[in-house]
Amino acid sequence: MSQAAVTPTASPAPALAGAAARATALSKVYGEGETRVVALDSVSVEFGRGRFTAIMGPSGSGKSTLMHCMAGLDTISAGSARIGETELSGLSDRRLTALRRDKIGFVFQAFNLLPTLNAIENITLPMDIAGRKPDQEWLELVIRTIGLSERLRHRPSQLSGGQQQRVAVARALASRPEIIFADEPTGNLDSRSGAQVLGFLQDSVRELGRTVVMVTHDPMAASYADRVIFLADGRITDELPAPTPEEVLDRMRRFDTEDRTS
Ligand code: ADP
Ligand code: MG
Repeated sequence: MSQAAVTPTASPAPALAGAAARATALSKVYGEGETRVVALDSVSVEFGRGRFTAIMGPSGSGKSTLMHCMAGLDTISAGSARIGETELSGLSDRRLTALRRDKIGFVFQAFNLLPTLNAIENITLPMDIAGRKPDQEWLELVIRTIGLSERLRHRPSQLSGGQQQRVAVARALASRPEIIFADEPTGNLDSRSGAQVLGFLQDSVRELGRTVVMVTHDPMAASYADRVIFLADGRITDELPAPTPEEVLDRMRRFDTEDRTS
């Protein structure tokens, strides 16, 4: 049995069999000599299917690098990064592109919507570019879950920040990817808009059966996840199952104290 199947009993979302993604002794080194930076230092972690994981840690701790390496947006220096059973390093550009298109959704902090397209056109754009017809039933389910049925003909400038980011999450979900990576998706939002986006990400896991990995600085945002992983200096330092905002905050404070005393 894989590790991912052994979930904390307090977790609201039971993991399905197998890992949606997995890093094994994953290292990422940028630069050489004086400019050498070890962004990830032998990280091993599993993202179980149908689970919502939050990644936290100080700025520069390697959160974005981990997301990019797992999503095939950056190469790795050593170890292994797998989506399902597929090892990313060694894939040809063509196969990597296909894997990213079919299996992975990515949500950026800056929503990255096209201003000249309306919401539904933005949502289906990646599939249109790939020359694919969206699965209509799935698309309708995503749109119903996003809660923006009345705004589909609106352009990004006619939508609030929270609505725009929900469109961006829907775009990441449109091709029915197994796993969605979101890098500080609520970083540019007020708390009410942030709550809408987090609710939608949670629904993506609970109602739509997707796997979500989200970087955040916000203990409240992290509490939407089934577990929190803490990174520091490119290493996983701790993990918290079924986190409450208070527990996350507590853990962050403890790290601060340890930093100051070490
Ligand atoms: P986080 O997302 O946790 O703030 P990052 O993953 O962006 O951290 O960065 C981790 C470390 O790797 C930092 O020291 C950062 O300066 C370095 N780094 C990230 N991307 C690059 C890059 N393209 N070239 C060189 N160094 C980088
Ligand atoms: Mg980052």
